[in-house]
Amino acid sequence: MRLRKGDLVEVLTGEERGRRGKVLEVQRNKQTGRARVIVEGLRLAKKHRRTTRADKPGGIIDLPTPVEESNVVLLCPKCGKRTKVRREPHEGRRVRVCRECDEIIDT
Ligand SMILES: [Zn+2]
Repeated sequence: MRLRKGDLVEVLTGEERGRRGKVLEVQRNKQTGRARVIVEGLRLAKKHRRTTRADKPGGIIDLPTPVEESNVVLLCPKCGKRTKVRREPHEGRRVRVCRECDEIIDT
C-alpha cells in the first residue's frame, strides 16, 4: 500500500493499535522502497530537553515517532472502512479508488 500525505489510516500493531489519524508525512527510503509514516496525534514520544540556551527552553516536548507503512491500513474517507485501493483512469489521470465503495479517494 502506497500511502500519501493526508491519507486517513488506522494503526494495526503495537500500543497504539486501533487508533486513527491523518498521515502528516511519508518518509520513503529510496533504496529499499519501504516507507514510514508520521500519523497525526499518534506515537508521541516524550522527549526531555535540557535548556541549552535562554531562547530555547527545555522541558518535555511531544515528538511524533514514524510508524512502518506496513503497520497501518488505509481508511476510506468516504465509507470509513479499512480498505485497499485500485487505480483507475479518471479525467485524464490515474486516481485511487476504494475497493469497498468504489469512490475516488484522491481529491
Ligand atoms: Zn470507501
